[in-house]
Amino acid sequence: MDSIATSPAAACYVCGTAGFPIQTGVTDPDGAVPGEWAFRKCANKECGLVWLDPRPLESELWKAYTAYHTHTRDHTDKAEKLALGLANRLARTVLVPLWVASGLWRETDCIRHMTLNEMPAGKLLDVGCGGGRFMNRMRRRGWDAEGIDFDEKATGKITRRYGMKTYTGDLVACALPGSSYDAITMSHAIEHLYDPENTLKECLRILKPGGKLVVVTPNADSMGAALFGAFWRGWEPPRHLQIFSVKTLADFLHKAGFNINEIRTSSAGAAVIYRVSRTRQEKTGGQLSFLFRLWLVFWSYWKELAEFKAQKSGRHTGQNLLACATRSLGRAA
Ligand SMILES: [Zn+2]
Repeated sequence: MDSIATSPAAACYVCGTAGFPIQTGVTDPDGAVPGEWAFRKCANKECGLVWLDPRPLESELWKAYTAYHTHTRDHTDKAEKLALGLANRLARTVLVPLWVASGLWRETDCIRHMTLNEMPAGKLLDVGCGGGRFMNRMRRRGWDAEGIDFDEKATGKITRRYGMKTYTGDLVACALPGSSYDAITMSHAIEHLYDPENTLKECLRILKPGGKLVVVTPNADSMGAALFGAFWRGWEPPRHLQIFSVKTLADFLHKAGFNINEIRTSSAGAAVIYRVSRTRQEKTGGQLSFLFRLWLVFWSYWKELAEFKAQKSGRHTGQNLLACATRSLGRAA
């Protein structure tokens, strides 16, 4: 474990107002970086941004990712793993009728394709593409998919494995040609960015007029954040530098020059967050029994469904935010 150099971040980097702590004592869920972290909320009601305090120095951020993706130190024995895997399958099978009837099935499919299912295939850029699974999914649907990520191991693998075009590093620094993409997706990426505003402006510039940006990111006002406090998986310090709400994400998109078509919260995939957060919460008392973990599998899917249903009354308390925005037809690059 390597420590990371930070600077205190008591004031909001958007409007300069002091922030008050809304969550303290948060640790890195992946165990890559030691220490306890806090999240502050801007006291200015016109702003309301939630950010990480202290903030890692930009030059040190790479340290937060050295153990990322390779962190799974799983002590579960093989037989238990198999049983938990089977329970997971069983839960997913049993719940299909409920998922279909409630609309969660459709919602999950919509998020899997980042809402692009009904859009004619074109040129796509996935920002924060990771291992390229989403890019490959979209390619099979006819999209000309490209990806960008800070992780050169990940981008190199995508090019070798799928033959798709990737870029490594910062989107702004890449200076891709203007007005060249029909769609840009950012799934669980914007909360990692040091300068989300400039990245969004760059997305606007490289989108074709009328092109669509889709953002999915954890929701600071989610039921999970309220229920689990410091154990909520969505905090993920120090890799998550800010956690948005419907309001603050909309503010960033407007400021960058986007027209917002839709902004709401989504519960698709929330089960895994419930499972991991609850496990972290319970683990403070020692190792969890196999039966308890078995029960957690069913419980987590149940919570996802309950959270999804709660969204129907227009509450913005789903696990993730979903924003769809477009570059207006008349805007010059
Ligand atoms: Zn502020």
